[in-house]
Amino acid sequence: MGEIDRLFLRVRVEQSLGIIEDVAAKTDRPLIVQFSGGRDSMVLLELTRTVTSNFVCAYMATGLEFAGFVKYIKDFCAGAGVPLIISNPTMHKGNLFKRVEQFRTWPGLVATWCCRDLKLRPEKKLLQKLYGKGTFYKLEGVRMYESQRRRSLYKDVAETFIREDGEHKKSFDVFPILLWSDYDVINFLQEKGLPTSRLYDDYGVSGCSWCPFYEPAIYKRVLEKLPNHYDRFIEWEEKLGQPSVNGFVYLGDIKREVVDGIPMPVRDEGKPGRSPCQMMLNGELVPTCSVYGHLYIDGTCFRCDILEIKEPL
Ligand code: SF4
Repeated sequence: MGEIDRLFLRVRVEQSLGIIEDVAAKTDRPLIVQFSGGRDSMVLLELTRTVTSNFVCAYMATGLEFAGFVKYIKDFCAGAGVPLIISNPTMHKGNLFKRVEQFRTWPGLVATWCCRDLKLRPEKKLLQKLYGKGTFYKLEGVRMYESQRRRSLYKDVAETFIREDGEHKKSFDVFPILLWSDYDVINFLQEKGLPTSRLYDDYGVSGCSWCPFYEPAIYKRVLEKLPNHYDRFIEWEEKLGQPSVNGFVYLGDIKREVVDGIPMPVRDEGKPGRSPCQMMLNGELVPTCSVYGHLYIDGTCFRCDILEIKEPL
């Protein structure tokens, strides 16, 4: 790492430690480190340990993890000697496919109910069961500069680094590394000799192996190594007659291309003459809705035709 990078990193670290110290001073309860096993949460954990021993790592299992990932989380925390709690969807309304069956559709880029139903609500129930109702401070390894979408979602907290948790009333989400760049993260991990999940290197993602935010290229990478990994998704695409990738690509088509060499067909999923609106982002053609979200008119996104999901009962 060069001198300039080291200097930037020192400034970032000091600012992040200050944010964590501030919230640690507000509560007697353990700080909740939202630990996903990825690079950002590894940084977050290391920073939190520097400030206090009164914390617990919380992993929100979704059931969409790659095989062995939850074990990796458990082994890592045991080896590092840090406390870990794990929530899972059975603590709330059941797994993704149960909810897909109920809603008759996939979670989308705006109505990201998978995050709410598989992660946030089960975790809320677990925290209340373990520590009782009241205020929790949840440290999240979100970084603004990771994507355009994140820049716009988090610009309101770029100075305060804290906001009330929309899902868990009276609790707060805290973002100590919100302003860190990719270089800051990589440099910090190298400096501290911290590990990262190998899955991140293999597929470009860790944690959920399927996500409405992933681009087809990620699914191709996974299918090249694990050809049957998405078979249950493909079954449900067929049952619903709806693509699961970004609202307009069928995983079944991706699998046929990767596994059998059959080129993906051009499907017309929209009204006659319509195709999903796309745009260039970082040199890649991506659905516009994956950057800006859907824009619904009369219950249908005018760019990609996906149906709006009403707030479930
Ligand atoms: S699939 Fe994506 S949006 Fe849904 S819970 Fe997993 S990471 Fe969150």
